[in-house]
Amino acid sequence: MKKQTAGHARNAGPMRFAFPRFVGSKPAVALKQVQYDAFRTELPFLYGILILNAVGLAITHNQSAPTWLAMDVPIVLSTACALRLAYWLRVRFTGFPHLPGAGNKVRVRLGLGAGLAIGYACWAFALYPYGNAFARCHVAVSVFVAVLGCIFCLTYMRVRLVVAGAVSIVPFAPMVLFSIESREYALTAIVTNLAIMAGAMVFVLRGYYDRLADLMQSQHDLVKKQQEAALLAEENFRLANVDALTLLPNGQRFLSDLDALLLSRSATHSGFAVGILEVDGLKPLNDLFGHEFRDRVLKEIGRRLSLLTNPDVIIARTGDRAFGLLVRSNVTASQLQDMGTMMRAHLEQPYELSGRLARLSVSAGFALYPEAGTVAQHLYERAEFALQHAKTLRNGRAVVFAQNHENSIRRDSEIELHLRRADLEQELSVRFQPIFDVASKGIVAFEALARWKSPVLGVISPVDFLAVAERTHLIHALTTVLLRKTLDAAAAWPPQIRVSFNLSARDLGSAEAIDTIINIVLASGIAPHRINFEVTETALINDIDRASEALLALKRMGAQVYLDDFGTGYSNLNYIHRLPIDVVKIDRSFITDIAEQQTAQIVVQTIVDLCHRLSLECIAEGVETVSQVNALLRVGCNVMQGYFFGRPVTGSDVVDSFVSTGFLEEHSGCQP
Ligand code: C2E
Ligand code: CA
Ligand code: CA
Repeated sequence: MKKQTAGHARNAGPMRFAFPRFVGSKPAVALKQVQYDAFRTELPFLYGILILNAVGLAITHNQSAPTWLAMDVPIVLSTACALRLAYWLRVRFTGFPHLPGAGNKVRVRLGLGAGLAIGYACWAFALYPYGNAFARCHVAVSVFVAVLGCIFCLTYMRVRLVVAGAVSIVPFAPMVLFSIESREYALTAIVTNLAIMAGAMVFVLRGYYDRLADLMQSQHDLVKKQQEAALLAEENFRLANVDALTLLPNGQRFLSDLDALLLSRSATHSGFAVGILEVDGLKPLNDLFGHEFRDRVLKEIGRRLSLLTNPDVIIARTGDRAFGLLVRSNVTASQLQDMGTMMRAHLEQPYELSGRLARLSVSAGFALYPEAGTVAQHLYERAEFALQHAKTLRNGRAVVFAQNHENSIRRDSEIELHLRRADLEQELSVRFQPIFDVASKGIVAFEALARWKSPVLGVISPVDFLAVAERTHLIHALTTVLLRKTLDAAAAWPPQIRVSFNLSARDLGSAEAIDTIINIVLASGIAPHRINFEVTETALINDIDRASEALLALKRMGAQVYLDDFGTGYSNLNYIHRLPIDVVKIDRSFITDIAEQQTAQIVVQTIVDLCHRLSLECIAEGVETVSQVNALLRVGCNVMQGYFFGRPVTGSDVVDSFVSTGFLEEHSGCQP
């Protein structure tokens, strides 16, 4: 899996912005909050000034005005003011930092303030006729102070400008008139000045309020834009980390989660596991029903897998048909195997979509941290190795990477090293195993089986060195040498005996390799119709169109195509029928129990019947006993291969052991 640019850890979301306290509130509300904060600080001063003013006026008018006016009224007003002062001090120092829920409550409280200020203004004004010019001047100043308090409250209450202006200027009009009447022009000037100042204060405060409102509006817009940008960033982050089809985290996210997990666990050393689930059978669905159906199946896979996701198990789509797993808890190998089995069972349930039924097979491989590796690449590679191992086991169990896998990795790299250095002409040889027709008592063909004897490593099993050759692209060189040797040997056999040659998936996937194969056949002098090419379902399914083209090219030449190891892959005869195949070879695993187990007999019987219906011949592989031969004959399969008829021998032994001896008579007792 290719690593893309580093993403984020699962818990690390996209960048989040720190918003001010009134994030999300409407600008008007935010404005009120700011003003409320100001009032909490300023109103106690206002009430304090009103009380001091009242005391001052009461003292200066105590002698000149009636007692009820000079003393009683200010006592009532000041008591009310003191109560309000106490209230606001409590608000100021003991809490209520936030605007009380309903804006109306604030309006009522400010209305009270304004009312008291008006009450003061009226009382002060009532004292105006008493006392001398200084006392009247004092009254004018006190009225001004009360008016200021009133303006202060009214501005917040958004009382109309005209009303606020009127409330602030009107109280001065009678004083101006009185002073003109009593010819105290200096007093007229002072009162007029105060009236103008009060009017100006209305405008100043109103302007301040409007500018503040604009500021709050632009701040609100800015916050809104930031929120939108944050949402967009979050959405982009999500899209960049999610697989669009399955809606699971994608490979990039998987790798960054793995990196983050490694980082966190490097300190604690507690274990976790990396896993890979690989789904087989999607390609045939694509070929049979089209990519839309395949995509629907993938969506359903995503849905099923998301049900298995929890904080401890992360599942991501890491490849076309591969899903990465991070098991964040400390698990044992057997727990992982159980988990793999459960997930496989979940995914292998039939997919019933658009009136069609699809079945998939799933393999699972796991690697444990820190045993299998301490860096992401090692862990992933080992989970992949375990997966490949799981595929070769036919019991479908999940595989957890273990020490013996470590040994086989070492062994594989050793094989690769010596295979690269090998003198292929010298070290490779071919053995031939007969394919026998029991009904006609004749050998149909010999299958060519590769052998390698390395001067350093000794004899290596073809399963091992061919897998390495396939993975490392060395296979073409091997195929060329092996085919040439096979055809050289077959040239010495009687012309009615065919030769069967195994092709690898990579041979089928390369047009060049097929051209080389055709050229070798044509140059060998052996009639192409004597040659069978054996291919496996897995090799075909990797790229069905290309494989189909390759097979057609071989068939055009005159060769036949055998489908090898049938029953171990997808076993989709409907799909296989679209390929140019002549013969199906039933895998050895079905033959092993055929003599004893009725189920095995039924399975083989079904395959044989299907082959007959599709006009395909069939061959049973791995036949070792006479009872297996008889059981096969009973289900209608006459052509067989296996140790019962002969082990693989050298090319020259083919003639000596099978053709020129009385081999056929020896096996005549096979018939039921
Ligand atoms: P295969 O094509 O299924 O070949 C049959 C394998 O089963 C051979 O193993 C053969 O020796 C073994 N066999 C035959 N009869 C019996 C039996 O009665 N009982 C048992 N237990 N085994 C039996 P071998 O030679 O080790 O080959 C293994 C695999 O290697 C082959 O499986 C084939 O897939 C691959 N292979 C062999 N030669 C070549 C080759 O030249 N090219 C390619 N691409 N693959 C090859
Ligand atoms: Ca074969
Ligand atoms: Ca086979």
